[in-house]
Amino acid sequence: MALRQKIAVLIGGVGGAKLALGLANLQPTPQLTFIVNTGDDFWHLGLKICPDIDTLMYTLAGRVNPQLGWGVADDSTHVLDSLIRRYAWDAWFKLGDQDLALHLLRTAAMRDQVSLTDFTSRIARRMGIESTILPMSDVEMPTLIRSRESGEMSFQEYFVRQRWQPAIQQIQYDSGQGASLPARVDDALTSADMVMIAPSNPWLSIAPILAVPGLRELLAALPAPKVAITPVIGGDAVKGPTAKIMRELGLAVSARTVACYYEGIIDGFVDDLRNPPFHFAGLRTTRLDTLMTDLPRKVALARNTLDWVRGW
Ligand code: GDP
Repeated sequence: MALRQKIAVLIGGVGGAKLALGLANLQPTPQLTFIVNTGDDFWHLGLKICPDIDTLMYTLAGRVNPQLGWGVADDSTHVLDSLIRRYAWDAWFKLGDQDLALHLLRTAAMRDQVSLTDFTSRIARRMGIESTILPMSDVEMPTLIRSRESGEMSFQEYFVRQRWQPAIQQIQYDSGQGASLPARVDDALTSADMVMIAPSNPWLSIAPILAVPGLRELLAALPAPKVAITPVIGGDAVKGPTAKIMRELGLAVSARTVACYYEGIIDGFVDDLRNPPFHFAGLRTTRLDTLMTDLPRKVALARNTLDWVRGW
């Protein structure tokens, strides 16, 4: 029997999860390891919340809210309603009841000194997920946002409470205070036949992963093909603040800017058919339909990307 191809994917939340679902539905299914951004993680109401890990798990388990792309489908909000109605709580972060169950379990595990990696593996198995899901780090590495109007803010203050409206002046990535590259992340990258960077937000979802000590250097030195997929289509982001952030940072909103940002760590770039072509010396590029509006399109993008790289 042929060995299953091993693919390691650097990934954020909703945009990345679309590609993850496409990859997981390929036949034969590659051996997938997702290395997930934890720069968005935070503590809320005493609970440890990992938005990108949860979005990916709910998506792969077929439980995600299809309208939102995050949270659990058909979830109730009894706890949230109580907080608002009975206690006049400023419930700016939406928490469904089934979602809360996961946060409760995770918080208890953290208090019992279980690592986020072990907890995530255990829960992913219980959800019936076959892929491996690895947090980028077990050490907290919170991303901080600085804006002229609001000063320094936590990520969720910026992203959810202020609905990404403050103009970003600077993004500060945490380096985990002496943390080293987790052994399982190192193994997943070193043994991969191919590394992918999902079409996640480069500045908010992928850059925090690249800030894990040693990860960027490891990626740069890996002999396996490394390919990123554009999150910019037709001069804009499909969803979320990617294009707005690029403008605020003084960058041109284009796939080319994203490819430039990954310079030195990728050797291939999947651009979208709708974008104007560009060429960089030493970077292979292809143009595909990268808009993943339904499952067949997610699978097609995953398949076409793998087929392109196999032909190198
Ligand atoms: P978040 O953490 O929930 O914001 O999600 P990600 O960082 O993983 O993804 C956000 C990015 O995904 C945005 O820049 C979007 O432009 C991109 N994105 C969303 N849907 C698609 C799609 O169908 N195709 C492509 N190419 N990019 C997408």
